[in-house]
Amino acid sequence: MSHHTHEQLAEEAKKLIAEYLYKIDDMKAKERTKIPPQEMPAQDPEIRSHNLDEVALGYTMEQARIEAMRCLQCVKKSCVDDCPVKIDIPRFINHVAHEEYDQAVGVIKEASLLPAICGRVCPQETQCQANCTVGKALKDVDKSVAIGRLERFVADWERATGKIAIPEIKPETGKKVAVVGSGPAGLVVAADCRREGHHVTIFEAFHKLGGVLRYGIPEFRLPNDIIDKEIDVLKAMDVEIKTNFVVGRTRKLTDLMDKDGYHAIFVGTGAGLPMFMGIEGENLVGVFSANEYLTRANLMRAFDKGHADTPIYQSKNVAVLGGGNVAMDSARMAKRLGAENVYVVYRRTEVEMPARKEEVAHAKEEGIQFSFLQNAKKILGNDKGRVKEMQCVRYELGEPDASGRRRPVLIPNSEFILNVDTVIVAIGNGSNPLISQTTPLLNVNKWGNIIVDETQKTSVNRIFAGGDIVLGAATVILAMGEGRRAAAAINKMLAEEIEKEKTAMN
Ligand SMILES: Cc1cc2nc3c(=O)[nH]c(=O)nc-3n(C[C@H](O)[C@H](O)[C@H](O)COP(=O)(O)OP(=O)(O)OC[C@H]3O[C@@H](n4cnc5c(N)ncnc54)[C@H](O)[C@@H]3O)c2cc1C
Ligand code: SF4
Repeated sequence: MSHHTHEQLAEEAKKLIAEYLYKIDDMKAKERTKIPPQEMPAQDPEIRSHNLDEVALGYTMEQARIEAMRCLQCVKKSCVDDCPVKIDIPRFINHVAHEEYDQAVGVIKEASLLPAICGRVCPQETQCQANCTVGKALKDVDKSVAIGRLERFVADWERATGKIAIPEIKPETGKKVAVVGSGPAGLVVAADCRREGHHVTIFEAFHKLGGVLRYGIPEFRLPNDIIDKEIDVLKAMDVEIKTNFVVGRTRKLTDLMDKDGYHAIFVGTGAGLPMFMGIEGENLVGVFSANEYLTRANLMRAFDKGHADTPIYQSKNVAVLGGGNVAMDSARMAKRLGAENVYVVYRRTEVEMPARKEEVAHAKEEGIQFSFLQNAKKILGNDKGRVKEMQCVRYELGEPDASGRRRPVLIPNSEFILNVDTVIVAIGNGSNPLISQTTPLLNVNKWGNIIVDETQKTSVNRIFAGGDIVLGAATVILAMGEGRRAAAAINKMLAEEIEKEKTAMN
């Protein structure tokens, strides 16, 4: 990343607009691919590693426009094929190129309800941007049209102009839908079912809505304000919200139907059960699951040291175990909470890391140290039961395994000591068994994920499920896609019932 300032990037874009605007609709593909890709302005790494403000600052209008002019408006839309919710990407981009932002928002919202969120956190480089014709022509996926950044620009424009529309709601049907869990899957179901005129209640275990968007993904990647705005829309639609309500404990899932009169339930409880390494020393004080660490930092505001109810003690040297986005978020959060040294300890090399390239680049810029081909063997404590250091071992890469990535092979007698006082385990999450244990007829697979059919219907009549509780730890856009499908099936089921009831009455 080049570290041009916001102002420099805006100035460059203005010059490009002057050069290209007069022929906006007449450029040949070759000419469009010559327009330089627009870099995302970002906070200075030294400054941002000490604050929680958003790292990426968003395109200026000129940057968005010039980036949109790079799109070739392909006939075979590989970007749409690769988008999990099939946004009509060239159409919205064409509106951006012509400064028709209202229409651009409209096109995106035909398919995706949360563009400000998806524009920020979707892994576009492996989805819509992966096979973009421009990236292919330039033989570099990083030079594809920046679809995600344009999506974010459009959504931010809508928010900034205060034009967020409250969807129209059909007349009340008298039917009640319960949504369990308020992550992206649950939020989408709530909106889509409420639009049909059904009474919708969201039941959420935490005291705030948003799921991982709120408690997992840190503010420096996804500001809470954006989640709040989406939830405000649901409130304005009269969606009922019950927080601090743990379904399976506060009330059984089936009781919501049998005792509380809900006609359909959507289960979107996510994959919130942290996995551990199973090594010696994981119960020492100073070992956290990434879930706990990030929840305390984000949801419980641990960074607000003087005021937080559950502050995290000051760490000096932190090891983060894992190589995915969760590991990147934990490492970057630890740095912001004041750690001097943060090491990401990963068994393979950077090439095999599942984390987004951009997040790894940002982490490096912020001073996170990467210890590749290493792993923890045991964690050692002092006489007070606190982490004192971690014994690590070294690996080399062998043959590819089932995932296609080269297998890490342990180097015998390669043990060494890493001086750390905090260890954050970020090696994955499983599904919480609470609901399946208290709903015996609900079929789950061997990992505890709920089994659904192609309409997201579970083995129990009137109960649907989607998102991470079905897919295992996946992505925001996939969770939203499943929510959409489930809401469509619920709405169809209830519409048929209403029709039957009407016929019976006549
Ligand atoms: C740190 C982190 C970073 C990530 N970064 C990205 C990223 O950059 N891009 C991306 O696309 N994806 C990312 N993901 C994955 C993504 O956030 C998830 O795939 C997505 O949030 C799943 O949505 P969901 O609606 O299925 O569940 P969740 O978002 O997990 O929400 C489930 C909700 O259900 C509630 N709940 C659970 N049990 C109960 C119960 N019994 N009763 C009531 N409520 C309950 C939970 O409290 C939670 O609020 C990240 C995940 C993590 C943990
Ligand atoms: S593939 Fe790329 S260039 Fe073609 S329409 Fe999609 S975004 Fe535009």
